[in-house]
Amino acid sequence: MPLLVMKFGGTSVATPDRIRRAAKRVGREVAAGHDVIVIVSAMAGETNRLVGLVDDVSPLYDAREYDAVVSAGENVTAGLMALTLQEMDVPARSWQGWQVPLKTTSAHGAARIEDIATDNIRAKFGQGMRVAVVAGFQGISPEGRITTLGRGGSDTTAVAFAAAFGAERCDIYTDVDGVYTTDPRITDKARKLDRIAFEEMLELASLGAKVLQTRSVELAMRYKVRLRVLSSFEDNDERAGTLVCDEEDILENNVVAGVAFSRDEAKMTLVSVADRPGIAAAIFGPLADAGVNVDMIVQNISEEGRTDMTFSCPVDQVARAEKAMVAARERGEINFHELVADKDVAKVSVVGIGMRSHTGVAAKMFQVLSKEGINIKVITTSEIKISVLIDRKYMELAVQALHDAFELEKAA
Ligand code: ASP
Ligand code: MG
Repeated sequence: MPLLVMKFGGTSVATPDRIRRAAKRVGREVAAGHDVIVIVSAMAGETNRLVGLVDDVSPLYDAREYDAVVSAGENVTAGLMALTLQEMDVPARSWQGWQVPLKTTSAHGAARIEDIATDNIRAKFGQGMRVAVVAGFQGISPEGRITTLGRGGSDTTAVAFAAAFGAERCDIYTDVDGVYTTDPRITDKARKLDRIAFEEMLELASLGAKVLQTRSVELAMRYKVRLRVLSSFEDNDERAGTLVCDEEDILENNVVAGVAFSRDEAKMTLVSVADRPGIAAAIFGPLADAGVNVDMIVQNISEEGRTDMTFSCPVDQVARAEKAMVAARERGEINFHELVADKDVAKVSVVGIGMRSHTGVAAKMFQVLSKEGINIKVITTSEIKISVLIDRKYMELAVQALHDAFELEKAA
């Protein structure tokens, strides 16, 4: 029988009533002739509550026990979903990650999926079971300990199951009705996209469009899983939601697919470091070791053997970055005059695979910002993305102006 993966996020399973609504959707797919693997998140707010309990009991917690606690939310939903389906006479049972088993690395709190066994669940389908409900976000390490995949990890569980079982499609039910050209809270001209290419979605996801965990998009791209994002609060037809797919499956698209942003950035500049071979490694090595997520990097031209090195990172990592740089200076590995942190910046990016074949996108972006009187502090580009760092207070304005200028409210 054709197989579907359906994933329900926290808001879609927040109460017994919502679980019933989700179960009805599953029941309709079963009635239409599908076997279904349902991946569930914890009920809305539950994972945060569990993380809070861990912090309360042990601020410098043992990550293995953190995973034992925070994975529990999904176990509850999985059991409740299986019970609800049984109440509707749909043959269903639940699985926790270790029972599948879904094997991961031992990187607790951010484990990677290594393997998903399919024989166990397939055998049950063979015996008449129609729905396998699997707890998302969790797996088992080589040491036999429970692991979790990082916040938002149930999306990744869903895509990985779709790949492992060769599912027809992976439907991600959430509280928004799809992927938008930008956040509708910033401009009411934001438009839902019918289709978006994996690579575009990857950029948007990692730039802070919180619809899908980035890792899930990477997996979908690698295994060509047709991924659909849709609302669990609306009646959906065939065209509902957004299909994340191969670029060949998109006939026509705007050059720019969307405008993404990330509000809480910081820009740090090491003033006057020695410009010598190895200096970048001496700076960014210790930052990486300290767990600082460096994003944009700019090195100035050097004068008399000295240069400025600028990088951006999330604003809540500034203290950690400063500590790492001061320690590196004390060890004599680097030398700088001053470390200047600008904590009031935001990143705005335009994304689109059309940029590969169209020139002038960057020029247009810079003109738009200049017309609004917005100063650009740092620029980076990739094949399908241009990002700028600007003062945070202009972020909304920049997103609105760019959305207008690239006419994203209109479909191609
Ligand atoms: N419940 C987990 C979280 O809140 C995993 C997920 O829902 O994707 O991060
Ligand atoms: Mg999520």
